[in-house]
Amino acid sequence: MTDLNKAVASIQISGIRKFADLVTQYNDVLSLTIGQPHFPTPKHIKDAAIQAITEGHTSYTSNRGLPSLRQAVSAYYGAKSGVVYDAQTEILVTVGATHALDISLRALLAPGDEVVIPAPAYPGYEPLVRLAQGTVRYVDTATTRFKLTPAQLQTAITPRTKVVVLASPVNPTGVAYTKDELSALAAILAKTDVYVISDEIYSELQFDEQHTSFATFAALRERTVVIQGLSKSHSMTGWRIGFTLAPKKLTDEMVKVLQYSVSCASSISQHAALEALVGGGDDSAIMRAQYAQNRDMVVEALDQMNLPLVKPAGAFYAFPDIRPLQMTSQTFAMRLLDEARVAVVPGDAFSEYGEGFVRLSYACEPVLLQAGLQRLDDFVKKCHSS
Ligand code: PLP
Repeated sequence: MTDLNKAVASIQISGIRKFADLVTQYNDVLSLTIGQPHFPTPKHIKDAAIQAITEGHTSYTSNRGLPSLRQAVSAYYGAKSGVVYDAQTEILVTVGATHALDISLRALLAPGDEVVIPAPAYPGYEPLVRLAQGTVRYVDTATTRFKLTPAQLQTAITPRTKVVVLASPVNPTGVAYTKDELSALAAILAKTDVYVISDEIYSELQFDEQHTSFATFAALRERTVVIQGLSKSHSMTGWRIGFTLAPKKLTDEMVKVLQYSVSCASSISQHAALEALVGGGDDSAIMRAQYAQNRDMVVEALDQMNLPLVKPAGAFYAFPDIRPLQMTSQTFAMRLLDEARVAVVPGDAFSEYGEGFVRLSYACEPVLLQAGLQRLDDFVKKCHSS
């Protein structure tokens, strides 16, 4: 027993991290575990950071973030979604999307409040809910092609439900909701008083259809927090810049949490972020094109291996079903690493509803991906024949 905070003590180290650590013990591993673009941060963004240092922009900024950056956030996402958030009152600059999720949950939840999360899900959500004293209610989407259906949402909502966390495109499955699908979920939520946290961190990496922001649903605007950031769209994971776009009433609460937890995001990163949004509108196009090609390569390869797959529509993940090989996701990932020197993430890292699947990241050079898929193919053949 511990005399320390029980909510913290109950939190496990992420299954992704555990596996990534294990990988370092092997030589010659092709890692398909990476959760970030393999492209470097664009040069014009790096130059803007250097310039910010040279010019002495190294002090605290406003808690909410540089006014010029908030203005740029408003314009950038407003142009994409068609919904404009006020730079003064409705936008916060956070320390990555993780921090944006944290301040949203902490501002919204009271002890015992339930948070509905379609699963398999990004492993960051559950610990943040618990730290905010909420309770997670996962909804199994493994049987509904990894998308929450209106019927499932309706059933999951109880009098204790405070928030639904929706993501599109989804980590770890790569699926993305269509506008009609989101609209059907919004129609159900409109009849409740449940809030929506819409994690749109992969919005720029959606391949086939235009991304739909949950902000589009006007009836829910007062109860929606959009989570955004530059980690994926501009390959800036280490710069730690995220955003919340939410109504004033909520933003005024979230900024209190932000103020007393971090004061503000890094001033240097904020200047770089301003350049990313003002001068780097097309930065994600090259990644999107590359990852769409990589996606096609993965879909074809897994099809030939007879591993069932829901075709990813965005991000840079595929989540094949490994149940035909009759082993757990942990055993599969361990054996693949041991016997074929390819690293993937076991599906149970994304809640119990990810069991029977593995996450394969294709955020890498096509040659590396091809080599990894070849090794995977050899391994699958070997499993079938033994
Ligand atoms: N949300 C999802 C779905 C993610 O996959 C990630 C990172 O992998 C995050 C949020 C966190 O993003 P950031 O690095 O900006 O904190």
